[in-house]
Amino acid sequence: QPIVLGPEAHKIDPRNVSSNAVRVTQTLQENGFQAFIVGGAVRDLLLGVKPKDFDVATDATPEQVKRLFRRAFLIGRRFQIVHVMFGQDLIEVTTFRGNSSGDAPRDEHGRVLRDNVFGPQHEDAERRDFTINAMYYNPATQEVLDYHGGMEDIHNKTLRIIGQPEARYREDPVRMLRVVRFAAKLQFTIEAATRAPIPVMAPLINNVPAARVFDEMLKLLMSGHALACLQQLRKEGLHHGLLPLLDVVLEQPISMKFVTLALESTDKRVMAGKGVSPGFLFASLLWHLVLEKWNAYKASGEPPIPALHLAADDVLDDQTEKLALQRRIATDMRDIWAMQPRFEKRNGKAAHKLLEHPRFRAGYDFLLLRCASGELDAELGEWWTDFYEGDGETREELIANLP
Ligand code: ATP
Ligand code: MG
Repeated sequence: QPIVLGPEAHKIDPRNVSSNAVRVTQTLQENGFQAFIVGGAVRDLLLGVKPKDFDVATDATPEQVKRLFRRAFLIGRRFQIVHVMFGQDLIEVTTFRGNSSGDAPRDEHGRVLRDNVFGPQHEDAERRDFTINAMYYNPATQEVLDYHGGMEDIHNKTLRIIGQPEARYREDPVRMLRVVRFAAKLQFTIEAATRAPIPVMAPLINNVPAARVFDEMLKLLMSGHALACLQQLRKEGLHHGLLPLLDVVLEQPISMKFVTLALESTDKRVMAGKGVSPGFLFASLLWHLVLEKWNAYKASGEPPIPALHLAADDVLDDQTEKLALQRRIATDMRDIWAMQPRFEKRNGKAAHKLLEHPRFRAGYDFLLLRCASGELDAELGEWWTDFYEGDGETREELIANLP
């Protein structure tokens, strides 16, 4: 039986609740179904934070949900969820899932391959990851249903996995990444039993399809707390083997300075509500690998620009497979890297030409990071800042006065 919390106990500010999410629950309820706002949205509401997206859980089947809304789309083949659209706004509606883990199909390491059986609400709560992510809010009654003591854990700022930790990580090793992300983002403490198995079980992440790890990694890097997340991963011993990328990045002092600066600036942008590009992020994380290979190719007699392209190819070939980097992201990374030597050629028309490059801004930001980390002379970055911000006359002067 869940604990039922009224408005005076949960203190959710109704102004933070999406009116579209309320509409969805209302429509479902008017048609005789149960419907609740669920998961991360409830957690954020309880923390007084305005959620960025809203999920709804219901006992209606996906087909039944679809019939009730004008713009509703069934997503996924085996286990369908419904996307209900209101203009640009998307509400994700999921049917309560049963706790079928006992007999669900698994891979040879115990990872559950599918859980696509519908079930009662209490089982839907049990198959969720953490207690704070397993609460249900009914906007009509303004009640929160708490099946696993999530409210208390919110108060104590504790991340606690539901059920037996080893078994839950085995079912889905991505939960180890999630616990770290939430701990860093919410500044919560990972409860001892939830934390204990992580270092031992970390290698299981290698058996998860790369695309899923990449999605979770991207969420982590774009959370606005990327630096804190990576430091936490390191503390939990999760960077070993977890992502070969992090292993190198976090172990090498040279790359550490650069990556730290890159993540700090990413976090600042996210916090300020500005966009960040995954391409820029991964270009930064992998830069020291490119540098190493670039230098090696140059040392073997290759001219600088072809050498850089060869280095970029090597790194991208290697990482695309491991990270499931999307083509679009890889293209951005290559552009940013390929621009770097061009910043060092400033005379004649070179600087003007580079300024017209469609990705100039990203390349320039990257250059500034290289200067800030001590890899390049600060003079180069300052010159480009003056050039970029200056008017026509200033620019001509800057070129004329080149050292
Ligand atoms: P965020 O604010 O980052 O979106 P979230 O909690 O909403 O956080 P989602 O990935 O959007 O995270 O997932 C929505 C909900 O689905 C979670 O709150 C949790 O209840 C459940 N869930 C997601 N991933 C898992 C998982 N790997 N194992 C069990 N439950 C999960
Ligand atoms: Mg979410």
